[in-house]
Parts: sequence; C-alpha cells; structure tokens
Amino acid sequence: MSEYNFENSKPQIKSELKPNINPDLKKSFEANIKTRFKTHFSDILNKNLLQNAILLEGTDKETRDMAAKFFSAYAVCKSEQKPCLDCNPCKKVINDIHPDIIKINPSGAANIVKLKDLREALKKADIAPNEADKKVFVILDADKTLREDSQNTLLKTVEEPTSDVLFIFTAENSLALLPTILSRLQVINLNASIDFDSETSLLAQKIADAIISINEYELLLELNKIKNNAQLTEVLKFIEEYLRLALLSSGKQKSSSSFTAQKLSKKLTKERILSLLDVTRQAKLDSKTNIDTKLLCTFICTKYRRISWQK
Ligand SMILES: [Zn+2]
Repeated sequence: MSEYNFENSKPQIKSELKPNINPDLKKSFEANIKTRFKTHFSDILNKNLLQNAILLEGTDKETRDMAAKFFSAYAVCKSEQKPCLDCNPCKKVINDIHPDIIKINPSGAANIVKLKDLREALKKADIAPNEADKKVFVILDADKTLREDSQNTLLKTVEEPTSDVLFIFTAENSLALLPTILSRLQVINLNASIDFDSETSLLAQKIADAIISINEYELLLELNKIKNNAQLTEVLKFIEEYLRLALLSSGKQKSSSSFTAQKLSKKLTKERILSLLDVTRQAKLDSKTNIDTKLLCTFICTKYRRISWQK
C-alpha cells in the first residue's frame, strides 16, 4: 500500500503532512497508557468484555483521541500484553500508518463526514484485514461529525458486525447521537477517572445534593462558595458528570454510579435530569466568558430550582 512509503519519505515532509508523527506525542501516549488507560480499562480488557462497536465518551478531546488509538492498538497488537506499543503493528497505529485502521474523517466547511465517504469506507468492512486479525473503523467526535443520515447508514454495519471488525467512535456527549445507534454501542466512559475526592468535586457534590434539597437556600449558599469563573467551570464539569451518571443509572445501563448520582436519579425524572444537563452545559460555556461569577451562580441557582421543583 502507498502508506508504506511514508516511513521512507523525508522527515520534514513527514512532519508537515502528518503532525501526529512526533516523539512528544508518542511519549505522552505511552505515559497516558501507563498511568491511566491500562488500569482504567483493565476490567474490559482482562475479562474480554470488549464488543465490536464501542463509543469512547469523555469531555477532554485529547483523552478521547488517545483512547481511540489505545483501542486501535489493542485490536491489532501481536503481543501477549496488548497493546505493547513496541511491536510493529502498535508502532504503525501510533504513527497513523496501519493499513487496517480506517479513519473516517469529516471534510468540507461544515466539518462533517460526507455520506459518500462513509459508504466508500464501509465497503472495506467486507474485505479481510491486510495484516491484523481485525479491521478497525475510527470515527472521532461522532456526536459532531455524523449527521442523522450518516448514523442511519452506519446502523446496519454496526448492528451485524463481523468478528474481524471493530468500530471505534468517540464523543463528548453520547446523548447527541440517535438512540437507535447509541443502543448498539458499548459506551466506555473516559471521565470516570476524574478525581471525585478533590475539593472542587466535593463542592460540586454539595451543589448537586442541594439541587434536590427541601431547603431552598442551600443551593444558593453552596453556589456562593465558588470564587471565580475558572473554579465554576471545574465545578460544572463535575455536576455534569453526576447528572450524566444519574441519567445512566435511571435507565437500563447499570453503572458504578456515585451516591450523589443515585440520589439524583431517584428524585428526578429523566426529562428533568436532561434539562439540568442542558442548563449545566450552557452555564459551563458562559463560565468561560467574562460574565460575573456571582451573577452566573444566581442564574444557575434559579434555573436548577425551577427544573427540580416545578410541578
Ligand atoms: Zn503491540
């Protein structure tokens, strides 16, 4: 394949064309795997629970992209301890030149995956892999790059995947995908590794608890402890995670949900949790502007209370 010549091309051209080929990325990729991924995903990998179509969901884009590479390497690695990152297939994954990893990329001004590109790529699902045991299809940021027609096109292939195909999707927000496709994906949460014992997360927990408290001043009291917008952004990230966990534990999917999330899911309907999520995501965006912290906190308080206590 033409990709092979890539390794022999001049370094300066290589780095221009493929910014991913740089030693820093490899280092950070390895560090990420060693410190986080291998432990974080150990259950799925050791117990062989990986399905044929997975969705890696997380708020941090870099983590999502890294995790996609991690699972790509896992699928094609030839070593016992997968992914080893030392064998040839692993190196090819890190350098984005493995012939069995098919990335379906968005294009055009709208930055979406074109239907014809998708169809063209999916034809390869019927052809046996070149070097590896599996062919891997990767669609990054699927919640933003896949329109509804593309998601519908994917349904059939994802629904009846052959054992030698792995689909890897990433998304910031899985709920933005159609329920039909989402229900066929194994959702792997990348946020669960966030530190739920930090000071910020404890404050977020108190705020989340106060949303459903009978004492209506409690929520404002807790929100008023936030000192600045940077802290508010962090707190809102945790609240978003609690709400997301609450949503999951209210559905069929059982998750190792926190106590706070369980309480929220018991007290609130799915619709209310979704509304709270909307408010939280919008507030998170607002908190990154110059808006006054106290003003925004008061606004969040009013919105939260209205949603959780409306008749
Ligand atoms: Zn390997």
